[in-house]
Amino acid sequence: MAAQVLNGVEVADHIKQRVAARVSELGIKPGLAAVLVGDDPASKVYVGSKVKTCEALGLHSEKHELPAETTTEELLALVDRLNRDAAIDGILVQMPLPKQIDSRRILEAVDPAKDVDGFHAVNVGKLVQGRDALVACTPAGVIELLDYYKIPIAGAHAVVVGRSDIVGKPMSLLLLHRHATVTICHSKTKDLAAITRQADIVIAAIGRTAMITGDHIREGAVVVDVGMNDATSEEEITRIFAEPERTKRLEVLAKRGRTLVGDVEPRTVVEKASWLTPVPGGVGPLTIAMLMQNTLRAAEMRRGL
Ligand code: NDP
Repeated sequence: MAAQVLNGVEVADHIKQRVAARVSELGIKPGLAAVLVGDDPASKVYVGSKVKTCEALGLHSEKHELPAETTTEELLALVDRLNRDAAIDGILVQMPLPKQIDSRRILEAVDPAKDVDGFHAVNVGKLVQGRDALVACTPAGVIELLDYYKIPIAGAHAVVVGRSDIVGKPMSLLLLHRHATVTICHSKTKDLAAITRQADIVIAAIGRTAMITGDHIREGAVVVDVGMNDATSEEEITRIFAEPERTKRLEVLAKRGRTLVGDVEPRTVVEKASWLTPVPGGVGPLTIAMLMQNTLRAAEMRRGL
């Protein structure tokens, strides 16, 4: 039987409604400052949709756009100003930053109480210890998704493929705190398929187009695809998708020269998995929804609510 769809758009809407309701109930206006350095088109789109979502939910938002040649010192000065700005509860510095900027110094300069991306060492440390913290949005969104569809986590064997600071590591910790048995895989893992085939839950956060195929998946497993990659050839699309999606994607390719795909190959995985996230429409929308939730949470914590 084909896998059922874990619909990230639906869950993201649910989270956003929850945030909007709480904001209006509290009568506060949580504020998010989004900082964008340079003119990377993808980053511009991300920041734009984050700001727009804030407005839709009744949050205050401001966009700070700096030129590509901004120095670390200049960016630190802005972060410092935002740290001291009472109207701002959350600060988001859009990554990646231009090469001349010391990203680590910038992330560590953000007040941990306003670190709505959950990247600061203080918040990562609290996450490790299972204490109340602002947690990275993408992995936190994956937990919301699993909970929404009542996928049991406690006791499940979860295999996380990818060990980045922003997805793989925090994802593994969140699953561990929810009592999953967690295995973390990465580029040096030997016989990846033998390990992922033992999983009840597979989280793919690799950044490699459709690398996880049906051979990697045990019958009935839950598969969450975090990957966001561009497929740019007809050959790739034909391998990744079955009909009718294949035709749709080939049309997108013909029009735009690329189509968004994940780290999972739906054509083969859908035959094995019990649940699968689509790309787009899976994890992506949850990341923004969780950013809104983190901004609200930061606002509540700063006001002692
Ligand atoms: P990184 O490049 O930081 O990390 C990728 C991880 O995958 C690394 O740990 C790497 O291992 C591992 N890896 C690479 N190749 C292999 C392989 N052949 N076998 C096993 N593991 C491998 O990426 P991110 O974590 O930042 O992002 C992962 C994906 O998720 C990307 O496609 C990104 O675009 C997407 N993403 C999506 C978001 C969303 O909102 N949906 C948000 C954030 C990311 P090693 O550590 O050994 O190098």
